[in-house]
Amino acid sequence: MFTIFPTIVEGPLRESLLGKAIEAGIIDVRVHDIRDFATDRHRQVDDEPYGGGPGMVLKPEPVFAAVESLGEGTKRVIVLSPAGRRLDQALVRDLAKEPRLVLISGRYEGVDERVVEGLPAEEVSIGDYVLSGGEIPALVVLEAVTRLIPGVVGKEESLERESFEDGHLDHPHYTRPSEFRGMAVPDVLLSGNHAEVERWRREAAEEKTRRNRPDLLER
Ligand code: SAM
Repeated sequence: MFTIFPTIVEGPLRESLLGKAIEAGIIDVRVHDIRDFATDRHRQVDDEPYGGGPGMVLKPEPVFAAVESLGEGTKRVIVLSPAGRRLDQALVRDLAKEPRLVLISGRYEGVDERVVEGLPAEEVSIGDYVLSGGEIPALVVLEAVTRLIPGVVGKEESLERESFEDGHLDHPHYTRPSEFRGMAVPDVLLSGNHAEVERWRREAAEEKTRRNRPDLLER
């Protein structure tokens, strides 16, 4: 991961699923400060946009130097950008096959376009909205991909059933108590009849998908 704000990603990399996967050596995540690759006296990483206008642009030289410091070898380079291809579970599955991913976080108006052209790199967006930096989007990509690495998520089954895996959203989940503030857990889930539970889950997933994401059913 390359960023000019490494501390933003440090906390999430220590916690929960990502933290455990790193600690267990299942994935190896390295965070580099792009500023360490600036060569001028002021360690400048941004400059004004050609053509004028507001904001600053991340300069190409430190970003190229940063990625080239990784040396030769197979790697897929991604620049996080709202103007990129939108991330979905299909892209996550594809990225999970890569031995090495390089995630470049932009700031300000983004990175100089020659980073995309010249490295080369692909642009990936986490959704149709604009954040202030690529660090959280980079963590989103990393966490989604990490879930698919064998050994990271406890029971493989819980992955198969997740939203988007079969073109549906996940079914609703319930835990104890069986009644809470007048709301009861559907009887079938307490019945112990596995076939009925399975049928209820399929139908409930279908219903939820129709309600929240009808576009998934149309595809
Ligand atoms: N000028 C850019 C545009 O309108 O497309 C917005 C730049 S944004 C303020 C700064 C940085 O945040 C981007 O370079 C990118 O790395 C990151 N970013 C913001 N929204 C994002 C999104 N939806 N997906 C991925 N990265 C995003």
